[in-house]
Amino acid sequence: MKIRYFDHAATTPVREEVVKEMLPFFGIEYGNASVMYSLGRNAKKAMKQARERVARAINADINEIYFTSCGSESDNLAIKGFAYENKNKGNHIITSKIEHHAVLDSCKTLENQGFKVTYLGVDENGKINLEELINSITNQTILITIMFANNEIGTIEPVEEIAKIAKEKNIVFHTDAVQAIGNAKIDVKKMDIDMLSLSGHKFYAPKGVGALYVKNGINFKKLQDGGEQESNKRAGTENVAEIVGLGKAIELIYNEYDWYNEKLKILRNHYMDRVKKEIDNIKINGDLIDRLPGNANISFRNVNGSELLFELDKYGICASAGSACSTSNPEPSHVLTAIGLDKEYIGGTLRVSFGKDNSIDDVDFLVNRLKEIIK
Ligand SMILES: *Cc1c(COP(=O)(O)O)cnc(C)c1O
Repeated sequence: MKIRYFDHAATTPVREEVVKEMLPFFGIEYGNASVMYSLGRNAKKAMKQARERVARAINADINEIYFTSCGSESDNLAIKGFAYENKNKGNHIITSKIEHHAVLDSCKTLENQGFKVTYLGVDENGKINLEELINSITNQTILITIMFANNEIGTIEPVEEIAKIAKEKNIVFHTDAVQAIGNAKIDVKKMDIDMLSLSGHKFYAPKGVGALYVKNGINFKKLQDGGEQESNKRAGTENVAEIVGLGKAIELIYNEYDWYNEKLKILRNHYMDRVKKEIDNIKINGDLIDRLPGNANISFRNVNGSELLFELDKYGICASAGSACSTSNPEPSHVLTAIGLDKEYIGGTLRVSFGKDNSIDDVDFLVNRLKEIIK
């Protein structure tokens, strides 16, 4: 059976070009990047190139990029690492109710350790309110962490405005940009972003490698003790092959930015237009304009979402209920709850996230099956 994959917000397939670039580092180029002889120097050189590619993609300096094991680790390191290092300056952090659990749970941990956290609400489209943000700032606020784009409903937050508010108040601003890489142009200098998390497997690199950008001059504590890798901010022998893969993938996705984003929009709009016209009692979730180009999140009234996924799977269709991170969790998604979605809709939510290898044919197949199943 042909697999039709519409879950790129959960993870993406690894590109061939990326695999090709990584392969030597699983084999003959096995040197440790920290040693002096040439075998290790090759690894070190490859890592430097990867760091340059990440830095170039978001307009950071090369020494502002720290490689990690995933987006979750980057979020943990940014939020907890910053809070621990700067607790003498204040104990208040501001975030939103619709963050990824890597951010929410890092904040919860800090709350248990005596920090105060404000969880901003969002409007029905999933956007935070800038007035509410300003009003929640106190003289104890040291960090604002708001995601660039939401992984469930695709809403893009007003990052530049948030950064401006943070800068005026001398507060550090971190953003979880895991969903935004490749789907939004990011310039950390122009946008005044202080810290930014990203993860390879959301843009066609493998799972298990991420990066954190931290602006020069901002101090944070290392969370994992051991060696002095990553400028002594993240102990552990570097995962050279995957770091090389992440570097290649981020360069490719930004080289193809216009083509890629246009393609995602065409697929997404075709899907949404057909569903709107051909299926009754639906609700489109997330902001219609400030939105990831490949995201469509639609709720079908009084439909059982798990059953829907199960039926779609019979046809080789991969999609997601809310987010992939919470499939074992029977609670309704915290994001859909935060946007105030009605009860009869919340359980029947389907997140479809498009990728570079999808076609209009695939979309038509999906809509046709959806129509049959929902009927
Ligand atoms: C996927 C995702 C993460 C987690 O990244 P991992 O590399 O899977 O740990 C964090 N934040 C957002 C918004 C994500 O979509």
